[in-house]
Parts: sequence; C-alpha cells; structure tokens
Amino acid sequence: PDVETFNCRQALEQLSSNIFELLRTAGTVGDELNQNVYVVGGFVRDLMLKTDNWDIDFVTEGDGIVFAKALHQAVGGKLTVHPQFETAVIRLSSHITLDVVTARREYYEYPAALPKVEKSNIWSDLFRRDFTINCMAICLNQSSFGDMSDYFGGMKDLQNKSIRVLYNLSFIEDPTRIFRAIRFAARLGFHLEVSTRQFLQQALQNDMIRRLSHDRIREEFLHMIREQESFHHSMTLMKELGVFQALHSGFIVQSHTLERLKGIRFAMEGFRQLSPSSFNQTVVMLMQIMSEVPPAYLEEVCQILVANQTLIQQMMKSMNQRDTIYHILKEDEVDRFTIYQLLRPHTEEALMFFYNDSDDPYIRHYIAFYLLKLRHIQLTISGNDLKSLGINPGPIYRRILDNVLKAKVLGTIYDHDGELKYAENLYNRLKEAPHA
Ligand code: ATP
Repeated sequence: PDVETFNCRQALEQLSSNIFELLRTAGTVGDELNQNVYVVGGFVRDLMLKTDNWDIDFVTEGDGIVFAKALHQAVGGKLTVHPQFETAVIRLSSHITLDVVTARREYYEYPAALPKVEKSNIWSDLFRRDFTINCMAICLNQSSFGDMSDYFGGMKDLQNKSIRVLYNLSFIEDPTRIFRAIRFAARLGFHLEVSTRQFLQQALQNDMIRRLSHDRIREEFLHMIREQESFHHSMTLMKELGVFQALHSGFIVQSHTLERLKGIRFAMEGFRQLSPSSFNQTVVMLMQIMSEVPPAYLEEVCQILVANQTLIQQMMKSMNQRDTIYHILKEDEVDRFTIYQLLRPHTEEALMFFYNDSDDPYIRHYIAFYLLKLRHIQLTISGNDLKSLGINPGPIYRRILDNVLKAKVLGTIYDHDGELKYAENLYNRLKEAPHA
C-alpha cells in the first residue's frame, strides 16, 4: 500500500517530559525484544491536533503480552493481561493508561458480528480501524523513533477536517462506527466525507443498526452523552442523518428537543452551584432526548437506551405526568403546598428535566423554587411524638401529620417545637370538632 511518512519527533518532544520518556522507554523495550512498537489511534490523532490524550495505545509486531510485561517492569503501574485477546493494560496513574495489543487482523463472519482476530502486522492492524484519522501509527524503536506511517491519508483528512472510513462496508461490518463517526465529527467539529456519509446512510437504510444489541447501542450513546460539550452537536447530527428513526420508528426528536439540549448543561451546573446535589446528569439528558417520543413508544425507546428497569419505570412515570404538571404550574399563583405535593413524587433528575424542558417562565420558576427551597422540607416529628402527647394511635395520626407538614411547607412553623405545638393544638381542635 502507498504510505506517506512523516517524522513526528518534534511533536513528540512537545509532550510533557514524562510522556516523552515513556515513549522512548517503550521503543527501547521493543528493541530489546526485537519487536517493532508503534503508538497508534486516538493518541496520534490528538498529538497532531495538539490535544492532550492520556490513553496511549501501543501496537507491537510480536507478542504484545511479552512486551507489556517488560514495559511494566520498566515503568511500573498496575498491569492487567488478557491472554485470550493478546492484549494488556498498564494503569500508570489515575489518568494515564497504556493499552498494548499484538498487531492483528480482524474479520467479520457476518454484519454486526463481533470480529474474529488473528495475528498480523501494523498495516493490517491499522486497516481494521474505523476512520483514517484514527489509523496513523508512529514507530517508537530507536532507529526510527518518531516516524509516522500514514497508509490511508489520515493527515490529509485531519487537515481537511474530514471523517472518512477506510472501505465502503465499514459501517455494515460494524454499525457502532455510525455512532463513532458522529461522535468524532461533533467533538472535533469535522464533517463526514461525502462517500462516508453515503455509506453510513446505506447502512442505516439496511437497518444495520438494529442488528446491534441494546448493550452496544447504549454504550455508544453513553459515550456521546459523556462528551457533554459536543452532545448538542452529536444529537443534531443523529437527527440529520436519521439515526434516531433507525433505532426506533417512534424515536422522534424535533427541533424543540435540540434547542433544549443546548442549555441543559448550564441549567444543571447552575443548580449544582446554588444547591449542592448529586443528581445524575445522564438521566436528565436521556429524558430530554426522549421528550418527544409519543407515550405509546416511550417504553420501547427507554428499553434501548436504559438498562436499569427501576429507572425506566421512574423515568416513564415522570414523563407521562409531565403535561399534568405543566398544566397546574402554568398558573401565576400556585401555593407552596400544591407545588410541594405535585413535585415531591419526582426524582431530582425528573425535576431538572421539567425545568429544562419547559418554555413557560412560571413553570420554571416554581420548579426552581421547589428545588431550592421546598425540596428539603420534612417533618421532624413522627407518630411516636404524637403518642408522647397522649394521642391514641389511629387514622388521626395521618391527618395531623399531613396538616403539620402543610403548615411547615407554607412557612407557618419551621422547627421541631413548632411542629409539636401545632400538632397538639390541632389535636385539641379536632377533639372538639372531629369533623372540621
Ligand atoms: P477517544 O479520544 O474517544 O478515547 P480513541 O480514538 O482513543 O478516542 P477508543 O474508543 O479508545 O477511541 O479506540 C481506540 C482506537 O481503536 C481508535 O482510535 C480506533 O483506531 C480503534 N477503534 C475503536 N473502536 C473501533 C471500532 N468500532 N471499529 C474500528 N476501530 C475502532
């Protein structure tokens, strides 16, 4: 194959000195074992883009596990080997991970299958990869330290800001690449090269995406959500390319949703700063992305994106009650207790979703008010306190406690003593007029 070569030594020297030394050491270890060692994939792409990447992927022409063990001896960290895949991982620190694979060829027995693997050379190892920008390798052995092999035009595509597959069946063989293409395009601000876009759309038309297990779809989707800065962009591309519809015909995403996704991070960040809380941002984003799915399809779409069944039921309950909630909160005077009762059954994630999803200033105001002011209100007294007041247990307990809570939410009382006094007074009044 035609190969463009560049020397990248200078770019490598710009890296922090510990990473540079690590690469030098990897090359020396390769020399000692008589193996060619390359750094490949995302690390090389990001090196060229001058972006930090602490996940370093090594490919060895030779036994990767032997290499990983020797490298581990030299650099330390925690080594994990996967003999069945001929791969190993060295975790050097909380943010630096070294992945080692033995150069291999992959082939697919049928579309969307997991690939079969056999030992090979660097070219084949690069050819099994997804996009040209992820297919460049830099040699680390001392005699050719820094020599880059670019067999597929990755450098040119980086310059043209282009995501390009290596061959036309790429998306058919592995439809997860559809998500990856979108994620990289969104993250890097690149475009899908014209034929790549066509191949991607052909794969969608052939329903390839439905051959993926929900687990694999979910994993890709979560990857996109985690890349929060480009999430709005990746969802826009998903819509533009028809990926949602390909996942499920009821997975409707319209411009309202995309518009709402734009501000979601800031809304969540704002609440976090005002009131320390530990809500799960991913859940909020998932609810927003599914916000226009018709109720009849909601469960099926949830099943694709979410594994946890309890969470699915919770999300659906809130999403199905959304219109009722909006209807009640649209008014300009809703009392505190109504807000409290209406919103209390919902998780913080659902409330963040309602807040972000609604256009109505009253609704937003009430939800924010609940989240910041009302959410934490709880009774400090219980049935035992009522017993100590000499009240005989019975249905009256519920009635008294509900009323005390209401008074507390409305701001009439605010502490333990206030609650006790209020309960006692109420009990005395009820004794006199039990049906009042
Ligand atoms: P990131 O910055 O998101 O970590 P990355 O390029 O390092 O990006 P990984 O998912 O860690 O992405 O994958 C490492 C390398 O493995 C990629 O650069 C790519 O070459 C290859 N790769 C990963 N997934 C696939 C896939 N589904 N098909 C082909 N090649 C893949």
